[in-house]
Amino acid sequence: MSKLERFSYSGLESYKKCPAQFKIRYIDNVRKPDEGIEAFMGKRVHETLEHLYKEVNSSKLPFIDYILDFFKSTWNEHWHGRIAIAKRGERKEDYIRLGEDCVARFYRINQPFSENVEGIELELDFMLDNDPEYRMKGIIDRLDHDGNGQFQIHDYKTGKRTMDQRTADLDGQLALYQIALQQQNENVNHVELVWHFIRYGIEVRSKRTKEQLDLLTQKLKKRIDEIRLKEQQGGEFPAKPMILCNWCYYWEECPAKQGTNPFIRNGV
Ligand code: SF4
Repeated sequence: MSKLERFSYSGLESYKKCPAQFKIRYIDNVRKPDEGIEAFMGKRVHETLEHLYKEVNSSKLPFIDYILDFFKSTWNEHWHGRIAIAKRGERKEDYIRLGEDCVARFYRINQPFSENVEGIELELDFMLDNDPEYRMKGIIDRLDHDGNGQFQIHDYKTGKRTMDQRTADLDGQLALYQIALQQQNENVNHVELVWHFIRYGIEVRSKRTKEQLDLLTQKLKKRIDEIRLKEQQGGEFPAKPMILCNWCYYWEECPAKQGTNPFIRNGV
């Protein structure tokens, strides 16, 4: 039986970037406790913003100090010994400060958080073309709804890279979440896709036509078919060495690498 029953957008993108990494992670199911400090920091910022909106939804507007304390406590609670810093010269403290800056900037720009929030960290389980052969999963950071069919799908980014308008107009992840939203709700009249580049306080917005969503569906189905065919027939999942190898935890399993990743230093 195939191990690939449900796909995520990030999983399908990882197949495009490096099929070997996809196979190690999703077919051979190799799981490691290691994670990069950028991803660790991003998760803690997401948790903090989730907590902030939960407080607001229960009619409390927390002070910024309380929210920053929450960030510090979730950081300490989750910290573990396998968090890596791939960039030379950077320290754990730099990332704590960066995370605090992200939270404080988001708070300053978005207070008093009066959006009509329908869901936070909303888990999605849906199908492409309503076909159970193409089951997908995903998480929407925040879904806003004005009550009259106008939705906004929000995504929080804490990384260094931003997106220009053209890249946002072509991005597949939030468009895929729009497909899920339309599949699961009858009253969707309009959907806006919103990225928050929290490190810089920048927002980028985009929308999709039905034709664009159909094209995306077909593209992802084709990729899933290709992966399944290779998996069933023992096809090749080639390694594609690139700069992102420095952040990859699968050097021991990778056919193109030897030993452990020398760029990864323990962040403790
Ligand atoms: S080390 Fe590089 S080539 Fe090897 S699996 Fe990871 S990303 Fe792919």
